[in-house]
Amino acid sequence: MKCPHCSKKIGLFSKALNKFGNPKTCPSCQKKIQLSPNLKLVALLIVPLFVAYMYIFKPLVEAMGFSGEGVAGIWAALLVILTMRLQSAES
Ligand SMILES: [Zn+2]
Repeated sequence: MKCPHCSKKIGLFSKALNKFGNPKTCPSCQKKIQLSPNLKLVALLIVPLFVAYMYIFKPLVEAMGFSGEGVAGIWAALLVILTMRLQSAES
C-alpha cells in the first residue's frame, strides 16, 4: 500500500496502519492518511464475486456441512479488505 502523499510503501500490517482510530499518520512523511475501501472496485467486484459465491462456493461449503451464510460474511469482509487503499486525510 502506498502513501498518497510521498508514495512510500506502508505495510498493511505495519504499526502505522494498525493503530486504533483515524486519521493515522504516514511513518515517513508524517502526513495524515486513512484506510478506506475502494468503492469503485467493490462495485466492480461484487457481482462476479457474488456469482462465484452462489454457484461455486456456497454449494461446496454446504456440501461440507458448514453454513453458507457464515461464509458469506467472510466473503464480504474479504472483498472489503482486498479493496482497501490509502487516502489522504489532510484537510
Ligand atoms: Zn507519506
